[in-house]
Amino acid sequence: MSAPLLSLKDLRIAFPDGDGGMAEGLRGVDLSLDPGEVLGIVGESGSGKSIAMMALLQLLPDSARVSGSARFKGQELIGMAGPRIRRIRGKSIGCIFQDPLSAFNPVLRIGDQVAEAILLHDSSRSRRDAMKAVEGLFERVAIPQPARRLRQYPHEFSGGMRQRAMIAMALANSPELLIADEPTTALDVTVQAQILDLLRDLRRDLGIGMVLITHDLGVVAGIADKIAVMYGGRIVERGATDPVFYETAHPYTAGLIGAVPDIEGTGALRQIEGTPPSIFTRPGGCSFHPRCTRAQAICAQEDPALAEVGNTDCACHFPLIATRTEVAE
Ligand code: SF4
Repeated sequence: MSAPLLSLKDLRIAFPDGDGGMAEGLRGVDLSLDPGEVLGIVGESGSGKSIAMMALLQLLPDSARVSGSARFKGQELIGMAGPRIRRIRGKSIGCIFQDPLSAFNPVLRIGDQVAEAILLHDSSRSRRDAMKAVEGLFERVAIPQPARRLRQYPHEFSGGMRQRAMIAMALANSPELLIADEPTTALDVTVQAQILDLLRDLRRDLGIGMVLITHDLGVVAGIADKIAVMYGGRIVERGATDPVFYETAHPYTAGLIGAVPDIEGTGALRQIEGTPPSIFTRPGGCSFHPRCTRAQAICAQEDPALAEVGNTDCACHFPLIATRTEVAE
C-alpha cells in the first residue's frame, strides 16, 4: 500500500499566553489524505483548522511551539530545515490564501507575481517562458483575455478574478497537494459557486489532493471525500462526507449543518448560540459544553475521547447516534 499524500499524527501547536506559559491552539490532531482525495476541514474561527495547515508549511510565527508529526509523501515536515521546506512549499504543495486582495502585492502586475512563483522554483526558465506559462495558467482557470490580464494590477481584477489568479499561482508548479484556506469566503455566492466548480474541475482533470479549510459545511458538501470538524483546537467529528452529513453524531456538527441555508430557503436557519472560545480562555471538559444543548455535568469535567460512533469518529459523551466504540485519538 502506498504512503498517504499527507498524514498528521498527534499534531500540537502552542502559543505564548503572555503570562509566561503556553496555550494550546491545536490539541493532538490525526488526519490523513490519499493522493487525489479532497479533505474538508470545517469549523468556526479559532477552531485551529488554519494553523494546522500553516504549521506544516512552516508559516507560523517563531514563538509557536509545534510537536507531533506531519508527513508529506513520507517526508517529515515538522522541523524540516528552511531550504528544504522552501523547495516543497509553493512547488509540491500549493496554497490558496483566504483573501486574494491582500495576498497579492498591489504595486506589481499580477502576471509578474505568478511568474515569480515559477521562477523561484525553476531558475533555468526565462522570464518570457514563465510569462507564457502564466498565460496558459490563466486560461486554465478561465480568466478571459489572459494575455491582456497578466499585465494588469490586482485592483483591476474583480474579487472572483483575483481568486482565480490566486489559484493559478497555487497551480504554477504542478503541485500534488493544494491547500485552500477559506477560498470562497470573500466572494459573493454566485462567484463562490464558480470557484467551487473550478476546484472540482481541477481535482478531476489534474488528480491533485486538496485540503479545503472552511467555516461553511455547505462549501465542502459537493466536493470533499471526507470531512474533519474541528472545535476548540481538536477534531470533534471526522468521517466520509455522507455519514458526516446524514448520520451526524456530534452536536456541534449538527449545529453547523443546521446553519447551512437549504436551496429552497424553506427551512428556518438555526444558529449555534454563543461564540467559540479563545485558546486562552477555553473551558475545561468538552470545550463545546457552554454552547451545547445536550450538555450534562460530566461534559464540564471530562473531555471525551474521539471514538467510533456509527460510521464516523466522534468526541462526545452523548452523541446523537447511540453506538460508541473507543478508538485511539
Ligand atoms: Fe455536548 Fe457533552 Fe457532547 Fe460536549 S460532550 S458535545 S457538551 S453532549
